[in-house]
Formats: sequence, C-alpha cells, structure tokens
Amino acid sequence: MTERYSEQLIAVGKELYARSLVTTRGGNLSVKIGGGFLITRTGKNLGQLSGSDFISVDLDANTAIPAEASCEAQVHRALYNSTTAQSIVHVHGAHAIAAAISSRSDRIQPVHNEAIIGLHSIPIINTSVPGEESGEDPAAIVEALKRAPALLIRGHGSFATGHSLDQALYRTLLLEDCCRIFLLLRGANSPDVVRERPVESYLQNDA
Ligand SMILES: [Zn+2]
Repeated sequence: MTERYSEQLIAVGKELYARSLVTTRGGNLSVKIGGGFLITRTGKNLGQLSGSDFISVDLDANTAIPAEASCEAQVHRALYNSTTAQSIVHVHGAHAIAAAISSRSDRIQPVHNEAIIGLHSIPIINTSVPGEESGEDPAAIVEALKRAPALLIRGHGSFATGHSLDQALYRTLLLEDCCRIFLLLRGANSPDVVRERPVESYLQNDA
C-alpha cells in the first residue's frame, strides 16, 4: 500500500515542480495511512522524488518525529489530528505569496466561479518569521484549516488539505490561479472588483 501512495506522491511532486510552485528544495507533501502519515524527506526536490524520499510519522503527538522528515511534519501531524484531511500539500507559489503580501485583508475572496465553489474564501495568517524557512506555529494553521480547505501564510506560501492527494493538489492549483487573478485585477486598477466582498454577492450575480 505504501508503494501505491509513494507513486502518487512522486507524480504530484513532479506536477508541482513543473508548474513552478516549488523551487528545488521548497514545499512538502503527505498522505495519511492508518495511524500515521507518509511525508516527504526534508530538503528534497519535489520534482525528483524517489521511493526512498518518504518518511513515516506516527500520528501520536507523543511520538518523536524522525529528523529526516520534512521540517513542517509537525504542522501535518497537527492537521491530521484535528481535521478530516487525508492529504496535505504545502508549496511556495509566487502568485500566492505576492497576493498574500499585497492584500490588506485577512483573506482573499475568490472572484471566479470555479474558485468560489472550490475554495469559498482563503484565509491569510501571519505566523511566518521573516528569514526563517520553517517553524510555523501549527495551532494557527490548524485553526484556519478547520474552516477552510486551503490558506495562505504571509511571506511563506500555502497549505491545502484534501480527502485525497488529487484533491489537495487541485485546491493548491486553484489557490494559485485565484491569487494570480487577484493580482491581475489589482494591476488592472479595478479596486471595486478586488475589494474583498462577501461570496454571497457573487452567487447572487450582484457583482
Ligand atoms: Zn514552506
């Protein structure tokens, strides 16, 4: 069973790298299996993963996390223990980072139908320490992802959860699209569109 999940993780890593959502060492992926989860090895290039690049981590918070596991393994474990996530994708998408930094709000409101349906609303949190690659506070991320499928961390990147790896990947791609559209609209000087509005107003065709 682990082999099947490894193959899926390898394919998703290649896709994320091909879409420039990670550099040669950023980001991490995991999938829940029984009482634990399989996560990418720390510092690995997600575009060149092999079967030996996945580390098993126990869900029991009293169990030590192997040193070779991704530095965000703590966040992944907290999410699996507090949400219904079966898989998690964390990347450093350029549009996601730029949109989170440029937004003055605590969320980005999708404005195209696919993202309104798929993400509803994207929280932005401020747990990142400038200049540090890891050490995100799991509590703040868990709290936001209990109510949303994906979030942005200012100055860092995004986390997306899913009932499957495919769904976590889809939400990651949708989030990046959504942030690109946000920036395009801002560049087009359309403050009335960019301004954060309730999703309901779009659903009522009241834009
Ligand atoms: Zn990161």
